[in-house]
Amino acid sequence: MHRRHLLNLILASAAFALPFGVSATQIRNARLWRSDDKLRLVFDLSGPVHYKTFSLSAPERLIIDLSGANLSGDFSQLSLANTVIRSIRSGHFGLGDTRIVLDLSGPVQLNSFLLPPQEGQGHRLVLDLKTVASLPVALPSEAIQDTTHPKRDIIVVVDPGHGGKDPGAVGAKGEREKDVVLSIAQLLAKRLKREKGFDVKLVRNDDFFVPLRKRVEIARKHNADMFISVHADAAPRLTASGASVYCLSEGGATSATARFMAQRENGADLLGATRLLNLKDKDPMLAGVILDMSMNATLAASLQLGSTVLGSLAGITTLHQKRVEQAGFAVLKSPDVPSILVETGFISNARDSQRLVTARHQQAVANGLFEGLQRYFQKNPPTNSYIAWQQAQKKAQV
Ligand SMILES: [Zn+2]
Repeated sequence: MHRRHLLNLILASAAFALPFGVSATQIRNARLWRSDDKLRLVFDLSGPVHYKTFSLSAPERLIIDLSGANLSGDFSQLSLANTVIRSIRSGHFGLGDTRIVLDLSGPVQLNSFLLPPQEGQGHRLVLDLKTVASLPVALPSEAIQDTTHPKRDIIVVVDPGHGGKDPGAVGAKGEREKDVVLSIAQLLAKRLKREKGFDVKLVRNDDFFVPLRKRVEIARKHNADMFISVHADAAPRLTASGASVYCLSEGGATSATARFMAQRENGADLLGATRLLNLKDKDPMLAGVILDMSMNATLAASLQLGSTVLGSLAGITTLHQKRVEQAGFAVLKSPDVPSILVETGFISNARDSQRLVTARHQQAVANGLFEGLQRYFQKNPPTNSYIAWQQAQKKAQV
């Protein structure tokens, strides 16, 4: 008795699993009924399906996604006159899945369910559509997917390097890195605030000193989706010019320049007691997390982010390095936030320095940074973000 019960369970689950993996279910036919209060649309199927529905507005549409199902019939014979359905379209959606789109003349309330074979009928998917008089209302069941999307903002933490007692690099005519990067960072923040789907926090919005460790903490405290530290170089070789983008490296720096830069940027924080260059010995909590597995994923994301930003900057300024460099910048040591450090040009180079202090060039650099990170997030939108939702909407417009 027990054994038989178990066998039934196994058979039941096999029957449930097989149709989706092995052979596609056919959507053979569609039928339509009208009654006073609702419209019933029935799809005749060769077997069971998994399906999802959701609605979109402006214009009103109802989308039905059937996994592992092919359309073998067509909908042209359906008489849609005087119904809420204007037209029915279909297309492939994903691998071997079918999407059916109902173009509607107004919002509807949906009740959908599957019927097993009975009384000479095969498997069926039934959609009952009730017209809604007023504004769109939340549809029941699976429609929740669309209405409850969090659409949250992507949080970008912008870190203008140095500040206060730490001027950063100083040019021949007294141009100060801390001033240049604050302007660029503020312009970038302004641009991000204007863009729907983004929120931005500045590590400093004025001329004051923030320890390196505090900068990392700010990014984590705000649950940043990305951290971008803005700097301007100085090099002993005065001809060195152009922008560079850096990511953290756990091992050695990718070039001698990268090693030098990391030493200089990290050293700027020496005035405080903690020397973050040797963070691994000083702060077991942070150092431990950095070595965590998640680091690899974040580093890969940082490198991708870095190369997208570098690509955007290429049209605005010369590049000092054509690829993303890696070095042990303390300010990038946030284990779970994709982080990059951008050297916008060389304060020590007369030509770069001259441009970097102009409002026009600062704006151009800020725009380049914005475009780079916008492109990155369009390619890699966090699942619950507004941009992810927006892209899903676009995809749904079959
Ligand atoms: Zn700097």
